[in-house]
Amino acid sequence: MAFGKRPIEQARVGSFRTQDNIRRQEKAVYEPKKRGANRFNNSFYAPVDYSTTIRLIPGAYKIPMVEERTDNGKKEYCVRNVVQEYFEMVRHYDGLTKKTLLCSAGPPGTPREKEKPCIPCLYARKHPKGRNEKGRFGWSKGYVWTVLEYGEFALVNQVDKEGYLKINERSGEPYTHWVKNLGDIEDILEVKEGHLQHWSQSREQFDEIMMAAASIECCCFSCQNKRAIRRSVIYCGNPTCQETIVDLSKVRLTDAEEEDLMSSLHHCPHCGQSTYPGEYITCNKCDNAVRASLFDADLVVRRIATTGDDAPKLRIEDFFLNPLDPSYKAKPMDLETMYQPDSIEIQERWTGLDLEDLMSDKPKPPPRTMHARNYK
Ligand SMILES: [Zn+2]
Ligand SMILES: [Zn+2]
Ligand SMILES: [Zn+2]
Repeated sequence: MAFGKRPIEQARVGSFRTQDNIRRQEKAVYEPKKRGANRFNNSFYAPVDYSTTIRLIPGAYKIPMVEERTDNGKKEYCVRNVVQEYFEMVRHYDGLTKKTLLCSAGPPGTPREKEKPCIPCLYARKHPKGRNEKGRFGWSKGYVWTVLEYGEFALVNQVDKEGYLKINERSGEPYTHWVKNLGDIEDILEVKEGHLQHWSQSREQFDEIMMAAASIECCCFSCQNKRAIRRSVIYCGNPTCQETIVDLSKVRLTDAEEEDLMSSLHHCPHCGQSTYPGEYITCNKCDNAVRASLFDADLVVRRIATTGDDAPKLRIEDFFLNPLDPSYKAKPMDLETMYQPDSIEIQERWTGLDLEDLMSDKPKPPPRTMHARNYK
C-alpha cells in the first residue's frame, strides 16, 4: 500500500466531532437515490387487440428462499438467496380498494413467529374466511421480467382520466411517458425504436413463458432450426469424469423424466461425486449444435379476451431466434428496488387498517346480526 493511502476504516480516528462530521457527510453522499424507480410507471401489458414483439432481458435478481433443515432432530429454518433472471414477490389484491399491495411478511414459507408485520397477512389471520367465502385480501405470487418491446415509441405528455395534463408540481412541467406508436398519436415530443419496460405476471402468464422456453430450447441457435436439438447422452457433471449416466440412443425416457434427471443432483458411482448432470446434444440439421435459450428469442405476444370475468389469457404466438441488437442498450431494470415490499405506512394508508389493531389479541366484537334472533 502506498504511504498516505490508508483505507477509510483506519482513517476513522480522531475526535467525536470529527467522526460525527464524517458520518454526516457520509449520509449525504450514500443516501440512495430512487428516482423514477416506481412499479406503477412504465409497466408492460401484452396488448389485447394486436400482437407485439418483445425480448425478455435476463437479470440476476437475488430471491430469498426459506429452507427447512433438521439439525440434531431440531427443525431449523434458514434463508438462502437464489439468483435468477426474473424477480419474484408475494402480492395481496385488496378486494375492497382494488389495489395490489406487496407482502412484507418475508419469503413464502417463513415460520409464523419469524414473519415481519404485513397488514393483509395479519388481517387474513384475524378474519378467517369460511369455505366458500372470499376474504378481503388475496395471496398470490407475482413474477416480474425486464422486457424490451420492439417498434416505434412516442414520448407524449401524460393526461389524467378527464383529459387534463398531469403537471409535476415541483417543476411546473407536464409529466411525460413513452407509448407504443400505432399511428394514432398526436402531439409527439420525441420518437425512438424499442422501449424497456417491466412486466409483472401472474402464475398463469409465467407458465406460458415457461412453455415457450421449452419450445425454444429445442431449437438450434447456430442453424436457427426449430425442433432440431436432440439430447443423446446425459453424463456425470464432474468435468474430470463425465461418465455416461444414460445413453438416450439406447434408453428411451419421457421428456419429464429427462428434465427430472437433468435438474437433480446425481451421485456418480464412478467418481463418487454428486453433481448436476451434463448433456451431449446433437442437431439434426447442422454439425454445430447449440441449444437456444429463452433469452435468444424475440417473442410475439398478445392476450386473448376470454368470456366471463377472467382476465385475458396470454398467448405467445411465435418466436424468432435472433442475437439481441446491442444498439438497444437493453439492461435489466432494478426490479428489486421497484418491487420491494410495501412499507407498513403505505399498507395502512391504502387499506385504512391499523397495524396495532391487527396485532392486538383482543377479539373483535361479533357483528350485531349474530345476536338478532327471531323469537316467534
Ligand atoms: Zn403479506
Ligand atoms: Zn462421475
Ligand atoms: Zn443446428
